Amino acid sequence: MSNFDLTGRTLLVTGASSGLGQRFARIAAAAGAKVAVAARRTDRLAALVDELGADRAVAVAMDVESEASVIAGYDAAEAALGPVDTVIANAGMNSEGMAADVSVEEFDRVFAVNVRGVFLTAREGARRMMAAGSKETGRGRVVLIASIGALKVLPGLAAYCASKAAGVQLGKGMAREWINRGVNVNIVCPGYIETEINADWFASDGGRKQIAGFPRRRLMEAGDLDAIVGHLCSDAARAITGSVFAIDDGQTL
Ligand code: NAP
Repeated sequence: MSNFDLTGRTLLVTGASSGLGQRFARIAAAAGAKVAVAARRTDRLAALVDELGADRAVAVAMDVESEASVIAGYDAAEAALGPVDTVIANAGMNSEGMAADVSVEEFDRVFAVNVRGVFLTAREGARRMMAAGSKETGRGRVVLIASIGALKVLPGLAAYCASKAAGVQLGKGMAREWINRGVNVNIVCPGYIETEINADWFASDGGRKQIAGFPRRRLMEAGDLDAIVGHLCSDAARAITGSVFAIDDGQTL
């Protein structure tokens, strides 16, 4: 079931080696897009491309912390599939620990992935969309995956929340700057969904207690993001830019 059509689009999604990124790659391909799946663990990406079909998907090695790696990843994606007009900047990492205990190295690491990585991914994608004529077509799309941690304090995750809040403002700034260059930028802030990023936590007593405290006493499912992310990538989102969507099953209520 789909309320969006991505036929004719070429989409690059980062963090496609697991969790939400893998899901976004699958739904984009099912909605008709050609898909470049990017991450560091290329063995996992190869398995995903086998599933999606080598005629419509390609695996690209990309470390989003590195400008050179991001550029090389886009080069490889475009060599295989043609110009990228749609980007989902999804790669991210968690950082646990009370602020008083977080080291400088850990703080810098989470910002390098969640802020610099999102910046590099979106900037490189938008540069290419503009060079390929997005101003005329108005079809450039960038979707940033932030978190409810950008909107609400999640105890024990101060550095993570700060990095996601930075991602929101970065996305809004880019949306404003590119508004007349044919590139729409929107930000999705998901609530908790069980993936590798948090599976250990939700299997613990503390995690189960946290779930019991959610208004609906449950985690979300990855598929709960399909409709919003697919829509934001589609032509139908022509008038949506700089918007922030909390999709969280009421977890911030
Ligand atoms: P996940 O399963 O741990 O996936 C994280 C992905 O990010 C992996 O594919 C990983 O790939 C990639 N990644 C990490 N560092 C990278 C780097 N330096 N370069 C390239 N890729 C990198 O977690 P997830 O839940 O799917 O998370 C996806 C996004 O959703 C993250 O931004 C996360 O903050 C956000 N989010 C998740 C939840 C949730 O409850 N699950 C809620 C809100 C927001 P490699 O290790 O192979 O490079």
